[in-house]
Amino acid sequence: MSLTEIDLHKQLKKYFGFSQFKGLQEDVVASIVNKHDTFVIMPTGGGKSLCYQLPALIEEGTAIVVSPLIALMKNQVDAIRGISSEYGVAHVLNSSLNKTEVKQVKEDIINGVTKLLYVAPESLTKEDYVEFLKEQKISFLAIDEAHCISEWGHDFRPEYRNLRHIIKRIGENIPIIALTATATPKVQEDILKNLGIPKAKTFKASFNRPNLYYEVRPKTKNVDADIIRFVKQNNGKSGIIYCLSRKKVEELAQTLQVNGINAIPYHAGLDAKTRSKHQDMFLMEEVDVVVATIAFGMGIDKPDVRFVIHHDIPKSIESYYQETGRAGRDGGEGHCLAFYAYKDIEKLEKFMSGKPVAEQEVGHALLQEVVAYAETSISRRKFILHYFGEEFDEETMDEAKMDDNVRNPKKQHEAKEDLELLIQVVKDTKQLYKSKEIVKTIVGKSNALILSHKTDTNPLFGKGKGKDEGFWMALTRQALVAGYLRKDIETYGVIKLTEKGEEFLQNPESFMMTHDHIFDENTDNAAVS
Ligand code: ADP
Repeated sequence: MSLTEIDLHKQLKKYFGFSQFKGLQEDVVASIVNKHDTFVIMPTGGGKSLCYQLPALIEEGTAIVVSPLIALMKNQVDAIRGISSEYGVAHVLNSSLNKTEVKQVKEDIINGVTKLLYVAPESLTKEDYVEFLKEQKISFLAIDEAHCISEWGHDFRPEYRNLRHIIKRIGENIPIIALTATATPKVQEDILKNLGIPKAKTFKASFNRPNLYYEVRPKTKNVDADIIRFVKQNNGKSGIIYCLSRKKVEELAQTLQVNGINAIPYHAGLDAKTRSKHQDMFLMEEVDVVVATIAFGMGIDKPDVRFVIHHDIPKSIESYYQETGRAGRDGGEGHCLAFYAYKDIEKLEKFMSGKPVAEQEVGHALLQEVVAYAETSISRRKFILHYFGEEFDEETMDEAKMDDNVRNPKKQHEAKEDLELLIQVVKDTKQLYKSKEIVKTIVGKSNALILSHKTDTNPLFGKGKGKDEGFWMALTRQALVAGYLRKDIETYGVIKLTEKGEEFLQNPESFMMTHDHIFDENTDNAAVS
């Protein structure tokens, strides 16, 4: 079936009551209806669901939607039932159904009543379901949260890895639609490769949130007082404060209350009734501030959240983007303030220590990006967008000023000779080391790896010991952002030389290094070990 533009608008109105498509929706819907494999990357709130729901309702047969969480599926099904029950239904097929319910779902599919069938990836591996679905008319297969397929995503699910194989068994020519709200270039590549849809039509919306102001402050012992001051300056505004642990959530909520701030806690340790009560109180503006773990936020659509504070830095840039993304949905002001101490990174590393080695390596690499973000002196917006594979031009964009680093540029000093030493060490050590070993080599400290390569006998070993490890770490990060060095993803972060780095060695040029507040003595940061 091929539809004209006018038809699609009519269908949109008929099924959803909307008169306009949002962003790229129309092109995506047209691509799906025209049976193309399709890849959709849109930030949360961009309107991804409609991209596959509308084609599912228009087309003959049942669309299968793979989704990782039962709670998410239930929300979606309830929503779609509210919209279009007269045109067909949405069903969930998962382990929570009993035999009679499964039978009913199957009958509805056979009778062509079910337009959308939500399944968990585990359910799709069930032989019985595959055999059944093989015989049905399937319009297309949508993979929601498609970044789960990549170990380089922030939420890798091994079950997602088998999807391609199963989809093939259900039908060779079923169009595949992959959707995600976060995908770095590497994750995008993995998704297309793993699903076997290299030629998929790709639709990527911008991740730029022009109305959000990004700021990172050093986390000191006085962080709670800093937060209280900030909230009081923003008196009466809605805000979310994220903490890592439930215990900290409780403590901080209490501290805020004692200080006259209208705040409540939210975390998965509270019973369902309290959680839902606290959520409603926030939505209905009975309280200004929610202090929460990451359990808070999924499906929360409060348009006028004016600030998101991170008491503890999150474990990936993806999480940070998601969580800060809850501010300023209405297009108004949204202040994103993160408190950062290197100690917190070490804490997060420790949490990962029980996990399989490959997972730890990925987790570590994602964390290093968070460190780089927190310590960067370049525009934070530029950093975030670069992370998601998007370029941001500070010269021409008005929102460039919505950023602490751009508003208050840090002091800089000439570091040409230091950079020369750094790059030479990377080269002399045969581009085998991650930043930790490179920095150790420069300051003349060894570990097992360094000894095994006999790097301690290299004439450059210890040549930079006049400056501390924190300095050399900061220089390495700045050299990475400036493109003299690059981090190799396949080897989980081994530092390599770029062409620009080689040229620099031939012909050294001025390099202005930014003085990093993170290493000031009065902060609570541990040196890099
Ligand atoms: P995502 O899955 O990308 O996070 P959703 O699909 O949940 O986003 O959509 C976000 C919100 O936008 C929902 O409230 C949805 O009803 C609304 N929405 C989606 N498409 C349109 C549209 N064309 N016109 C108006 N509102 C829309």
